[in-house]
Amino acid sequence: MAKLIDGKGIAAEVRADIKKRAAEFAAETGVTPGLAVIIVGDNPASQVYVRNKKKACEDVGFYSEVIEMSGDTTMPELLGKIEELKNDSRVHGILVQLPLPKGLDEDAVIAAIPPEKDVDAFHVVNTGRIMLGDFDFLPCTPAGVMKLLEHEGVDVSGKECVVVGRSNIVGKPQAMLLLHANGTVTICHSRTKDLAEVTRRADILVVAIGKADFITGDMIKPGAVVIDVGMNRREDGKLTGDVDFATAEPVASLITPVPGGVGPMTITMLLENTLTAAKRSVK
Ligand code: NDP
Repeated sequence: MAKLIDGKGIAAEVRADIKKRAAEFAAETGVTPGLAVIIVGDNPASQVYVRNKKKACEDVGFYSEVIEMSGDTTMPELLGKIEELKNDSRVHGILVQLPLPKGLDEDAVIAAIPPEKDVDAFHVVNTGRIMLGDFDFLPCTPAGVMKLLEHEGVDVSGKECVVVGRSNIVGKPQAMLLLHANGTVTICHSRTKDLAEVTRRADILVVAIGKADFITGDMIKPGAVVIDVGMNRREDGKLTGDVDFATAEPVASLITPVPGGVGPMTITMLLENTLTAAKRSVK
């Protein structure tokens, strides 16, 4: 039986620490860290994510602003808003909630966010700096995974690490962070031949594919650490991961549940990035 990694509890601990550090920073400098989130259109899932981000900011004493723009917003209007926020000294982090409605160019929007306010770490400058191992911000989900491993005392150095999924926001940066931590890293994707043969080699298995309960216990090495990034909505409305918890849990040594595993760490790392951006703004 695996030990559960309590992402919710760990996130609460880290957030309390962020709140303390933000208060100390504000007392020293008079600067309150601030995050602005732009949401375009009325995607219900995005609205929930944005509400959660605002609440998380308020809970740690940050300034927070949500800019709601209508679904028919044009690129010049959206870029104009980013330009305004770029020059707003209360705002240290700018986040544009993705996906954007059709017709808006996500790449151009990400490129318009100044790298020093890019707390999602999606800008090409920040992406490149992650590759070099010289970064201010890390993408929130992979950074949250590393924080969970660190909290659980998992030493990545020398371990066989397998990341399933190669998206720009999760899989690729996750692999890079494990590599920086001296793991021996393999990245799998939809064209990987004999996926189970690769996943069974993993001491640390991180799964981010977006397919409910896809990785089963027989694909896991006994005693492996299993991190499930997936968030899939079942027909009955329940949230489930990419790992089949029922068959994986008896095989793994440590495992994240869904919900309550990686999810709560993602917003926590956004708060951490916003604090970092605020600190850098006064340097
Ligand atoms: P993407 O859809 O962008 O990427 C999915 C990746 O999985 C692709 O690289 C794809 O391969 C790979 N893949 C798909 N099917 C298979 C398969 N059968 N075998 C092996 N690899 C496969 O997803 P994201 O990275 O954005 O998200 C992944 C999951 O993580 C989703 O469930 C998402 O909801 C969740 N998520 C959770 C977050 C959190 O805070 N917990 C944050 C972000 C995402 P290929 O490149 O070949 O197509």
